[in-house]
Amino acid sequence: MPPRILIIGQGLAGTALAWRLWQRGVPFLIVDRDEPLTSSKVAAGLITPITGMRLTVSWRYEMFYREALRFYRDCGKRMKQRFFFPRGYVRLLKNEPEIAKWHKRRRDPDMQPFLHRQTPELNAEVIHQPENGFQQRHAAWLDTTAYLEASRRFFESLDSYTTADVKPEDVRDDANGIEWNSQRFSYVIWAQGWSAEKHPLFHWVPFQSALGTILTVEADLQGEKRILNRGCWLLPRHDGTLRAGSTYEWKFDDPNTPSANQVQTLEATLRSLLKVPAEITATQTAVRPIIKNRQALMGTHPTHPRVAFLNGLGSKGSLRSPWLARHLIEHLLDGAAIDTEMDLQHNSI
Ligand SMILES: Cc1cc2nc3c(=O)[nH]c(=O)nc-3n(C[C@H](O)[C@H](O)[C@H](O)COP(=O)(O)OP(=O)(O)OC[C@H]3O[C@@H](n4cnc5c(N)ncnc54)[C@H](O)[C@@H]3O)c2cc1C
Repeated sequence: MPPRILIIGQGLAGTALAWRLWQRGVPFLIVDRDEPLTSSKVAAGLITPITGMRLTVSWRYEMFYREALRFYRDCGKRMKQRFFFPRGYVRLLKNEPEIAKWHKRRRDPDMQPFLHRQTPELNAEVIHQPENGFQQRHAAWLDTTAYLEASRRFFESLDSYTTADVKPEDVRDDANGIEWNSQRFSYVIWAQGWSAEKHPLFHWVPFQSALGTILTVEADLQGEKRILNRGCWLLPRHDGTLRAGSTYEWKFDDPNTPSANQVQTLEATLRSLLKVPAEITATQTAVRPIIKNRQALMGTHPTHPRVAFLNGLGSKGSLRSPWLARHLIEHLLDGAAIDTEMDLQHNSI
């Protein structure tokens, strides 16, 4: 039987998988339950080389970035729409200890490809304390909403997309394949984000997902187009709107309701960055799928070889999903080995 693949979930993970199959001419069906707010729909889509409090280069950045750049440009060409926007990224240092840390870090050889030579100049009428910053190269942002919507329309035009809430017990597997909704497939790939915590075949994966909130902001940045960050990031989008974020809440009751104090803290941080008046016009909240001590996991289930998994993209789904999706498909279709650090089976208990 020629391969045909069932993908559950049309977030950043499932969408990249579907594109990889389309590129290889392999038939697929992608199923999504079409929730209004998901991690991928809420995400700002930032792609940033030097991140975090520790000011280090993000894990295997160059490899992921090169692949993401080509992938989103190719998808954009295919759909005659632009989703991927390379941007300058200015990180402003918060205090003396952070400045001291940066003075040491900036000499690291692995930093050099990502550092802009000149000190960034920022408008002191727009930004509070615009000094003590550095500008990063090879940063970008992905318009996730536009990318997901256009991809869905494209998959629909191929009759390869359907809306349904897939119950794990309705997906039957044996040594020869998968059956769902009276249709046969060679494999099923569960790419369902944080909901996989409740999947009976994957309950042992150590998820540690985090609720995140971003703000939609109105402010006049007087032409500033770069992404800015001091305590929180601020993204000027191509359509003139601004986003700011984001929070991390490790305990939550509802996947779309943030705690008030987290939102207040984010708003206060934003106001300490911006000198110009800013109005918060909306907040959006969803759950990032994070797997404890892992950058992501993929592969087939240890005892169900037709059942595959791609998850745990954390806050790097835009950057990493194109590379991860290609590797999982090469594993399933060509038998290529999965990097042990990201192999579900090497991390099973
Ligand atoms: C506030 C916030 C800010 C973020 N900012 C960034 C950022 O700047 N840059 C970045 O790269 N990443 C960011 N992220 C994280 C990024 O969005 C995630 O890495 C990514 O969304 C994970 O994608 P996913 O496809 O694995 O999961 P999801 O986006 O959760 O997609 C899973 C999909 O599967 C569907 N589904 C689940 N179960 C079923 C089922 N049983 N049947 C049918 N459908 C099902 C869901 O409805 C959903 O559509 C952010 C996330 C948040 C919350």
